[in-house]
Amino acid sequence: MTDSKSSNSLKLMGTATKLVRGGTKRSHFKETSEAIFMNSGFVYDTAEEAAGRFKGENDGYIYSRYANPTLSMFEERVTLLEGAGAARGTASGMAAVNASLMSMLKAGDHVVAPKALFGSIIYIIEQILPRFGVGITLVDGTDLDHWAKAIRPETAVVFLETPSNPTLEIVDIGAVSELAHKVGAKVIVDNVFATPIFQKPLTLGADIVVYSATKHMDGQGRCLGGVVLSDEEFIEETLFPYLKHTGPALSPFNAWNILKGLETLELRVNKQTDNAEELADFLANCKGIKRVIYPGREDHPQFALGKQQMSRGSTLIAFEVEGGQEKAFQMLNRLKLIDISNNLGDSKSLITHPSTTTHSSVSDEMKAQLGIGGGLLRLSVGLETADDLINDLGAALD
Ligand SMILES: *Cc1c(COP(=O)(O)O)cnc(C)c1O
Repeated sequence: MTDSKSSNSLKLMGTATKLVRGGTKRSHFKETSEAIFMNSGFVYDTAEEAAGRFKGENDGYIYSRYANPTLSMFEERVTLLEGAGAARGTASGMAAVNASLMSMLKAGDHVVAPKALFGSIIYIIEQILPRFGVGITLVDGTDLDHWAKAIRPETAVVFLETPSNPTLEIVDIGAVSELAHKVGAKVIVDNVFATPIFQKPLTLGADIVVYSATKHMDGQGRCLGGVVLSDEEFIEETLFPYLKHTGPALSPFNAWNILKGLETLELRVNKQTDNAEELADFLANCKGIKRVIYPGREDHPQFALGKQQMSRGSTLIAFEVEGGQEKAFQMLNRLKLIDISNNLGDSKSLITHPSTTTHSSVSDEMKAQLGIGGGLLRLSVGLETADDLINDLGAALD
């Protein structure tokens, strides 16, 4: 295996070049496109070589639970894209979230996170962490006073997601990181909704970035995957031993799908955002729509903050129809093109009713606090022709 282009020279190049060429390694067959190394183990020429490999004295692969050439290509490509020191792939986004937390927390530590979070992350923070003696405080992520009050000397981790799911609230990554760093806490940002194309949390002050690669990185509905990015010390010394010994390894086949997905990531999310901007404006002018929440529109309550930390809006739109759940369901059932699905970031436009799907396990009280009402819908805008999407939404609303 040889690196086809050195990572150091690629570091200076543009995003598109990094996405197409970053991390590519060629075998002696000199294949153009990256190969899938669909193997669990590796062989050694001699017993001494095997012993040396385990001692870390010679470079090379040992076992695909630890590392695999196709995964290395994916990890290097996404490291270059994010401007991180290193990355490790995981079997899903949730495996990335779980490992980023569990690899560094211990009993007696304290975690602060906003209430507006992806459903399974709420489960980890509210249900799992307290079982291991980790204290938690949930805050209104949009209120810096809440963050300042909640962060205390035992706070080891601050976890946040921005824009949030499904109401697209924006958290000030720089200001929260500053508060967290005063007490020596690490800041983990789930950057799925913003994508690595529109927001760079490490540059804004965060320490660790996690992704569900299932979403925009694959972006074509094919597989699950996740990734954790940070400096080399955290990834190799804290995260990697946890992953290696607990085993949420990314399949080489899935790593390959995501690696190839990355090649078109910038094109896709920009086109999806072009479409989302058109659709958000269309929806805002439709009868029967109470409000449209879109970070790229000036009527978003945190438009200025969004502009400060994200280069563009989002591929996602949240909107509320008048008439609550009944009307929302009616609209969903009338759509002919846009699919009803809880996935997001896909080339196909997908729509979901968060209150009865992604957030069905959230209490009614919390839903009310988060603004997840019966009329709220979340639309993940795809790559279709914008006019066709507009016609579909328009007809469903009539
Ligand atoms: C989907 C998603 C996850 C979880 O990722 P999986 O790949 O489904 O495990 C975490 N955070 C956010 C914001 C997501 O959208």
